[in-house]
Order: sequence, then structure tokens, then C-alpha cells
Amino acid sequence: MGANDHNAKLCLLCMEEHELEEIHNVEETTFKGETIHYIAAKEYCKNADEYIISEEQIKANDLRMKNAYRQKVGLLTSNEILDIRNQYDASQKDFARILGLGELTVTRYENHQIQDKAYDNVLREVRDNPMFFHQLLLEKKQELSKRSFHKIMKQTSQIMAKSGNQYLIQSIFAQYEGYGNGNFHGNVPLNLNKIIDMINYFGSKIENLYVVKLMKLLWYSDFLYYRENKVGITGLCYFKASMGALPKAYDKIILLEGIFREDEIFDDRIAVRFLGSDLPKNTMLTKAEIETIDFVISLFGDLNRSEIVAMMHEEDAYLNTQDKHLINYEFSKTLHC
Ligand SMILES: [Zn+2]
Repeated sequence: MGANDHNAKLCLLCMEEHELEEIHNVEETTFKGETIHYIAAKEYCKNADEYIISEEQIKANDLRMKNAYRQKVGLLTSNEILDIRNQYDASQKDFARILGLGELTVTRYENHQIQDKAYDNVLREVRDNPMFFHQLLLEKKQELSKRSFHKIMKQTSQIMAKSGNQYLIQSIFAQYEGYGNGNFHGNVPLNLNKIIDMINYFGSKIENLYVVKLMKLLWYSDFLYYRENKVGITGLCYFKASMGALPKAYDKIILLEGIFREDEIFDDRIAVRFLGSDLPKNTMLTKAEIETIDFVISLFGDLNRSEIVAMMHEEDAYLNTQDKHLINYEFSKTLHC
């Protein structure tokens, strides 16, 4: 009596109950005009020294053959098809409705039936472009139950936010490429985690914090910290704009996931207000960095936008840098605070 006893079954070759060994071989076959190699499973009976293929193995072998064919001709495999639907947390029935297909079609394509190229293309679009799926979902809202619609919409929104965020992160880092080890980024690599934490921290300590003031607070924090330590905090590069220092890609940075913000609509424009949140327990900001940030808050937290811009306009860093040029961190030596 072994632990594998539960694997024993009636062997149709020798008509005794015993465990059958599963054997895997590479098989070659021709399917739809293509020569396919795939792994086929069968069972071996020691008593009879013969092979047998079970019902489940016949099905699984066929699916592996179909997937080998799919891979060979550049179609999604059945697992990839299944993953795309699961990523949106949609049942076969709901997925079919959203794509405007029969439920059976969706079921079959996740199994043995080879999908046509058109369906394959639609699935790739659904996988790579959550906005596309979002649009389809909105169009088919009436055909879904309320519960299904909300569940799938929630999932789709999360995927959209994530892919949007990945795009943002990539394009921010792309804008920061090529600044080497100069004094334009404070001798540290760009750290978006620290930046997100800092923005939220400022927002939690300062009421009515908008973009212009926030950017000056970041600049003063980085430059003050650099003055003492020869390294900045964030790795941000700042260029000279009319209202003072602005980090490169600041318009993208403020959109990063994890920053608590609110869009306020005025007559002719939208202003981003930073709502803030406490520092997370696992923040990458060091104690010394947080002390510098607290110092900046104590100096500038109560100033309004014009006051802080006026301060910046007095700084050598501003006066001695050309418009739209990057500000050298060495100017930190001459800061007025
Ligand atoms: Zn047997």
C-alpha cells in the first residue's frame, strides 16, 4: 500500500488495478497543410508491456497539437486566448456579448477550434489596448447584467490606469535619458517613488497646494539637500521657466498613479490641486531627506504662489540661468535660505 494508491485504476490492457506510467513523446503530424511537432502523452502497462491512450489524453494531445499549429502560423494559443478574457474578469457569455459573437464561438476558440485571423486580431487588440475594450464594453452595456457590467468595468479601469501609468513612467524616463552624471540632476538617478511620496507629503502638510508652488518646493528641497550632501533627493532636472524652476516632464509626473490629486475646474482652465497623504511606512525617503523637506515646508509652506515665485526670482540659480535651460545644482551654494 503506497501513497500513490489513489492513482491506481483498472488497466484495460491487463485488466488489473494498478498505477499507469505516463509517457511523453514528440509526435509529428500534418494539420491544415502544416507539419506540426507536439508532445503527446500515453500510458504504459508494465504487465502487458503495451501502451494505451486515455480519453483525457486524447483531448489533451489534440489541444497541444492545435496549439503547436497556432504557434507555427502565428495565432494566439488557447491559453493566451483564455488569459485575455480572464484579465478582464469576464465570463465566456459576457465576453461574447461584448465582442458581438456567439458564446459557443468563444468557448470553442479557447479549446480545440482554431480561431480565424480576424478573431485573433480582435483579441490582440483587446489584450494590448484596454481603451478599445473599454469602448466595446460601453457600447454593449445594455446587453450585460448590471452586476457583470460593473465587475468588468472595474477591472477594465484598473487595467487602463496601469497601462496608462506604465506609458507615463516610460516617457518620463525617456525624457531623462542622456543627462549622465552632470550636476543637472543632483548626482542621483531619477526616483519616481520618492517624488510621489514627496508630493503627497507636501499635499498633506500644505493647504491649497497647486502645481507652481509644488514645483518650487521640490526644487528647494533638492537644492538645499544638495548643498549639504552633494546629492539631491529626487534626481529631477529643473529648467528655468518664467515662474521659476520646473522639473523636466513635470506635466507627466503630476499624473503618476499614487499621487493624490483633484482636478478643479475654473472658468477657462483646469487646475490640479494636491490633496496629499501621509508617508507610507516603506517610503524610500531617508530621515535626513524628510528633515530637509520639513525645513522647506517651515520656510515656504505658508507663502502663496506669487510670494514663492518672487523668492525664486531672487536666486542666483534663476538669475544666472538662461530661459528654458537646465539649472545647475552647483547654484545651491548661493541659495538665500
Ligand atoms: Zn496493466
